[in-house]
Amino acid sequence: MTQNATQQLAGTEKWQNLDGHHLHPFTNPNDLKQHPARIIESANGVYLTDTEGNQYLDMMAGLWCVNMGYGQQDLIKAASAQIEQLPYYNVFFKTSHPPVAELSALLAEVTPAHMNHAFFTSSGSEANDTVLRMVWRYWDLMGKPGKRVVISRKNAYHGSTIAASSLGGMDEMHQQGGIIPDIVHVDQPDWFAKRCELGKDLDRAEFGRSVAKSIADKIEELGVDKVAAFIAEPIQGAGGVIVPPETYWPEVQKICDHYGILLVADEVICGFGRTGEWFGSDYFNIKPDLMPIAKGLSSGYLPIGGVMVSDRIADVLINKGGEFNHGYTYSGHPVCAAVAVANIKLMQRENIVQKVREETAPYLQKRFRELGEHPLVGEVRGVGMFGALELVEDKQAYRKFDKNRHVGIICRDYCFENNLVMRAVGDAMIISPPLVTQKADIDVFIERAWKSLEQTQKKIA
Ligand code: PMP
Repeated sequence: MTQNATQQLAGTEKWQNLDGHHLHPFTNPNDLKQHPARIIESANGVYLTDTEGNQYLDMMAGLWCVNMGYGQQDLIKAASAQIEQLPYYNVFFKTSHPPVAELSALLAEVTPAHMNHAFFTSSGSEANDTVLRMVWRYWDLMGKPGKRVVISRKNAYHGSTIAASSLGGMDEMHQQGGIIPDIVHVDQPDWFAKRCELGKDLDRAEFGRSVAKSIADKIEELGVDKVAAFIAEPIQGAGGVIVPPETYWPEVQKICDHYGILLVADEVICGFGRTGEWFGSDYFNIKPDLMPIAKGLSSGYLPIGGVMVSDRIADVLINKGGEFNHGYTYSGHPVCAAVAVANIKLMQRENIVQKVREETAPYLQKRFRELGEHPLVGEVRGVGMFGALELVEDKQAYRKFDKNRHVGIICRDYCFENNLVMRAVGDAMIISPPLVTQKADIDVFIERAWKSLEQTQKKIA
């Protein structure tokens, strides 16, 4: 071992020992004891570097957030200038500051035309807590306080606070702490899972319509005077990049309109260019009443989220409402807001959404589908800079692997060995790369992913 390598290893061990005091989110602590964390030390563009000098192609954009890639000088300079100018001030009690004012106006410009007001939070979870309070407040102000129930979907992810995890549909989360009242879950439009459950093919369009209808059925069952809103991610992210059939969203919009319930599109992942449109709502042509945002808003450089509010709702909250007793110390934090402004301006200047739609995403999706030729891959799906590979035991019979074989985890670990970050959700291998990923990076990705699939196949044979 060279002296440099010995020093690197000592550095890694030092950080891993100190990290022993860190309770990690969504991590099995016993696994971590046996295999301490990789220590990521720096990043540039679409590559991460760990303390041993290994470079990884980050096909997850951190945690679905580093949309403009690492090392963007505009964002770095915006943070540093703002921290000198005004590191903190609040936006309560009739005060504001330039970055939050500018960000609010910029968001009104890039979000759908009927959304012109923003409420700020520090995260997507807080955004969804805010959604719940706004929905309830709206119906109170409309003189219908009985409308309390929010319909969500199984396997949805809306965050980790108690309200956000209740809105989410993750059983493993509900099992630890339960869920708050007035939230119910209907089926997700997961065509692949349904085919596996049935062990045969299924008409996609028909399936989309029937899953949407389960929302109407739920409203009828509960009574429309009890139902306040429906919340969903335009494309489910953490649930496994579940792209709904084309028939799903038009039907959902019709149902929400018909019953007069609010539509909440959780854009925390789908927003800011991920689908090749500014928002998932633009991609599916839906008209939400509320839109939680976070992640790509600042490309993850600093924590900031928020809720975009439609004119219809804002009118009630502002003109009927009086004071809304809600807010966070860090709502619209000036440094985070300045970075978000710099990020959106950079996106506009680089025409990144159009570039994704017309160049990068078509190339990524075309090459990604080549992985479908691998015997382990039962389905390849994706839209924009977003995708999933379903690893299956038998693709003709739509037969999944036994969960306990952890095939997704095996594949993910090979990806890491091959200097590639892909995430496993069960046996779905998912990607959500930075929007600035280049065609050459995509070629590297496909080569490393194929190799990882080959190694996985050999290992489980
Ligand atoms: N909504 C969606 C759709 C998400 O994917 C996430 C995070 N993955 C959240 C909300 C929660 O965001 P945060 O982790 O910033 O609280």
